[in-house]
Amino acid sequence: MRRRSIPPRNSSEEPSRNTDPMPSCPTGRRSRPAGHDGTGTRWARAAPPTARSAWRVRRTSPPTLPASLLISGFATLPLAFLRTETHYFRVTNQYQTFKQTSSLEGVLANLMIVESPTKAAKIRQILGAGWTVEASVGHIADLPNGKMAIEPGSYKLDYELSDRGKSVIGKLKGIAASADEVYLATDPDREGEAISAHLRHYLRLSHYKRVTFNEITESGVRGALSSPRQIDQHLVDAQEARRAADRLIGYRVSYPISDAAGMGLSAGRCQSPAVRLVVERQDEIDNFKVTDHFTAMVQFENGEWSAEWQTKPFLNEGSEYVLDRALAERAASCRDFTIAAASQKPAMRAPGAPFTTSALLQAAGATLKLPPAVTQACAQKLFENGHITYHRTDNPNLSDDGMALMAAYAQSRGWPVAEKKRRWKLPEGAQEAHEAIRPTHPEVLDAGDTENEKAIYRLIWRRAVASQLADAEYNTVTLDLSCRQGADTFQFRARSAVLVKPGWKVVASDDDKDDDEDVAEAAASGKVPVLSTGQNVHATGGQVVPKATKPPSRYTETSLIKKLEAMGIGRPSTFAAIVQNICGKAYVKVEKRFLVPTPAGRAIVRQLVGRFGFAEYDFTKELETQLDLIAEGKSQYVPVVHDLNTRLDGELGKLAALTPTYPCPSCGKPLRLARSKKGRTYFGCTGYREGCEVLCEDNGGKPGPVISLTPSEKQLELARKLAGEQGITIPNEAFESSRKLREWIDAALVNARPSEKQIEFARKLAAEQETTVPEVAMASAPKLKAWIDAALANARPSEKQIEFAQKLAAEQSVAVPDDAIASATKLRAWIDKALKKRGGKKGAKRKEGAR
Ligand SMILES: [Zn+2]
Repeated sequence: MRRRSIPPRNSSEEPSRNTDPMPSCPTGRRSRPAGHDGTGTRWARAAPPTARSAWRVRRTSPPTLPASLLISGFATLPLAFLRTETHYFRVTNQYQTFKQTSSLEGVLANLMIVESPTKAAKIRQILGAGWTVEASVGHIADLPNGKMAIEPGSYKLDYELSDRGKSVIGKLKGIAASADEVYLATDPDREGEAISAHLRHYLRLSHYKRVTFNEITESGVRGALSSPRQIDQHLVDAQEARRAADRLIGYRVSYPISDAAGMGLSAGRCQSPAVRLVVERQDEIDNFKVTDHFTAMVQFENGEWSAEWQTKPFLNEGSEYVLDRALAERAASCRDFTIAAASQKPAMRAPGAPFTTSALLQAAGATLKLPPAVTQACAQKLFENGHITYHRTDNPNLSDDGMALMAAYAQSRGWPVAEKKRRWKLPEGAQEAHEAIRPTHPEVLDAGDTENEKAIYRLIWRRAVASQLADAEYNTVTLDLSCRQGADTFQFRARSAVLVKPGWKVVASDDDKDDDEDVAEAAASGKVPVLSTGQNVHATGGQVVPKATKPPSRYTETSLIKKLEAMGIGRPSTFAAIVQNICGKAYVKVEKRFLVPTPAGRAIVRQLVGRFGFAEYDFTKELETQLDLIAEGKSQYVPVVHDLNTRLDGELGKLAALTPTYPCPSCGKPLRLARSKKGRTYFGCTGYREGCEVLCEDNGGKPGPVISLTPSEKQLELARKLAGEQGITIPNEAFESSRKLREWIDAALVNARPSEKQIEFARKLAAEQETTVPEVAMASAPKLKAWIDAALANARPSEKQIEFAQKLAAEQSVAVPDDAIASATKLRAWIDKALKKRGGKKGAKRKEGAR
């Protein structure tokens, strides 16, 4: 931040939900407002009591004083008394409200502030009368664009209210001031905490209650109201640290790597590692060598069931595949088999875990083909309308209440419930702040306002309900068959699995991918009969199955999220935004749902990897962990941000020492690829601020010949006119570029000869003032003009002017000063002053008369 604080046009920072960049509390962790701990009282700041600003008195907790006393005393209670009795009284000067209300209870009004209008509407329904519920409409403040806005050393973030934030605060200020209690009820995570901190700061709340709901239902909201708390500064700090890290990386690194690469690039704390994953996957695909190999299948009872060749005994050491087609053909020709082993046993299959954020994004991507950003937005709406629990979570387990709710619903439907409560392993680094996503009312089978919302609700509902149901039970039959051919024995295996008790599958649908490979493989064998060892069976057909190894597939938006989560990069609140951001930034193209890196994507990875820590997966994971630790109060904001910044200092220092990929042929500074307004690409010198105007043609991504900007016709015409007037010639080098000619013109204009008219006027003035125009002034137009201006200032006043001034002076019994009479300008000023002194209509009239 000490170097360049201006971000490149496409500077990237991690995005956050609702497309708003992430703010945090400007009150600063270091300068908390009074009453931060909630013990402050609003009335203490209110105006002192006067006859006009009477008081509204409100009872809070133990209402010990009788209402009659309050009413009779409200206007006369001494301030000191009120101060000491703050526990019982809170006072505002809303006298009107008081007068209009007959009972004290009637003036009670609470304000609750949430993030979204949808959530506000839902909560209004739940809370009913006595409550005002308003929305902050997302973030109200953020770091301003175009400057670093992080104080060096202290790393204090310099927030600004957004335009929307200003109008929100303007609207809420009055309501908050007159409310009995202000409840900050933004979403239950770091980001929500930061928004609440902003509201507290900009609304200057010395007294408030922070409440959070994991579900927007009657019980969820009422439960939250019964356990209010204060803003958790640890969560706010973690949020701010993320914001600071994103900004430091985005703003400090983007410029230098753009210079180094010769094209505009933007670095991002999580985006850059995500782009790297996409690039590396593409490299793997590009470098993949396809291996053709073979296996064999035989069929029995004319295809009723089949068995697959077990190639393992025939594989060469270190090889996974049979490459010899002739061998596979021998296997496929096997017909007379003996049962070498037979088994029949039940197999239990457990349901999948209820959704975490990332699992929901993946499932919706796989089955509904929805991009993560759309799924995220739908889930947000479902949450705000009270249909599902909070959808930003990394915990695959339901709460005890959640499990009980799902189980009770299943029982009411007569479905088999699991004997033991199910628990799933937490992903590494999971915060487990909230339970997995589930419906708030499982008896509601259809919820959501749009088709997408409805489909996502069904997915969530099925997973959550299924998670508490009994295992599905299969009957599996496995046969090992062998066939001798000369010296070789070929082994085959047939497996089938038949569902005998559906268990959780009663609510599953075709949408739910059966990720159990065993079951999928068994299904391919058909219905295998129960045979006994030693029995002989005759195959009715057989064939070679040619196969080829496949490269890994490209990431989709959702499989990339799965990978990011597995690598500890990003968090439930940021996955969708990270992916959306890299796809929207020209680093990654989405082709038929698959992610393909662009040349810019490859360039940014080339520039960052090996140079910057944040391009390393482990480093990014470690930084996320540090942010988690701040949230838990086990680490602090300043050291974490300072370490990152110091590291960047070192890395940027090394980068600066490198020679640019494309140095400017004139000044040596890096050239950078740019695009003109007309869409033409070219390389421009990054030294343009220091006056280097070199532009080079874009020669297929590399700088070509220098573009000479020849002087325009208009410029030439002006230059020739000037040269003619001054009787001089334009030097040849001035014609080389428009810039050089412009410089010559600027110089010539300074020397331009005065016009005849100008000279005439100057001579007249000089004569009036009984002086002469000096030679130097006559030689140049600008100089003559300066002389004329000075002469005008000294011009003698006219007889009429003097006469008028003297008349005025006489009226006011003063004298016109001598220096005023000496100069027309000064006399005019004196007259104006004198007229003003006289003032009134008379003065105005007289002034008119004088003209
Ligand atoms: Zn240059």
